[in-house]
Amino acid sequence: MSSDYEALLNATIEQLQSLKRTGVQFIRIEADTLQTLAKPIPRKVTPMVTAREHQGEVVAAAPVAAFEMSREPLSAEEKEAAMTELRCRAMQCQKCPSLASTRKNVVFGTGNIHTELMFVGEAPGADEDAAGEPFVGKAGQLLTKIIQVMGYNREKVYIANILKCRPDTPGQLSGNRKPTADEMKTCLPYLLAQIQIIKPKAIVALGGTAVEGLFGKTAGIMKLRGNWQSFQNIPVMPTYHPAYLLRNQSISEKRKVWEDMLQVLEKLNQPISDKQRNYFLKAG
Ligand code: SF4
Repeated sequence: MSSDYEALLNATIEQLQSLKRTGVQFIRIEADTLQTLAKPIPRKVTPMVTAREHQGEVVAAAPVAAFEMSREPLSAEEKEAAMTELRCRAMQCQKCPSLASTRKNVVFGTGNIHTELMFVGEAPGADEDAAGEPFVGKAGQLLTKIIQVMGYNREKVYIANILKCRPDTPGQLSGNRKPTADEMKTCLPYLLAQIQIIKPKAIVALGGTAVEGLFGKTAGIMKLRGNWQSFQNIPVMPTYHPAYLLRNQSISEKRKVWEDMLQVLEKLNQPISDKQRNYFLKAG
């Protein structure tokens, strides 16, 4: 992509995000412009030929980004360019025909790509599909609160899902379903590329499906939560999905998630106040 195109695209994305923050949900766009935007960007394709170990099975990563999976850290500019290109590819993705035909938006990810902390969830629900942003429904509001109590905010971390499109629920307007193993495998290269670009110092995996998407079949979230895992040499803290905390309001479950977040703060060498240490301790 030319730097002019990239600058224009970034400015457009920023402008749209700023409109969304002010409550704008729809904008008028000419049909011709829409068709032009939907066309692939003319570019030199550098196939990404890496493969990764996934629970003993080698899964070839799809050519989702025009950069090599480099072990060298990318410069800030290279990160911006790689993420912009990846986003463009995801926005046009049709790899899961049924999801592509039913989605309102591709929910790519949001936040700071220069962050040290990344949160990975399962898949967009109806609210996220409508907004084009991950974790904006009730569970998302709880996640936002957790992030704030940790001392960050949504603009300082990066939030993404294993699946970028809402799993379709034929005949239902509001229900959500778990992504299938095939859907997760098909979409995972986008998340892998996001992780490669961001190179966070820690990842929080929110819920059993996120853990399954990253590691394949595991012992399950009940057993894994609170215990550090490693994904491409990046520490991963599995914890409960915020939706679980909405269903199970017990203070002891909230404390478990909070203890996981304290471990994350310690891993990132973040200062922890007494107040932070003592949240939800009344549970006993
Ligand atoms: S879920 Fe992922 S792989 Fe499937 S269509 Fe959406 S972006 Fe493409």
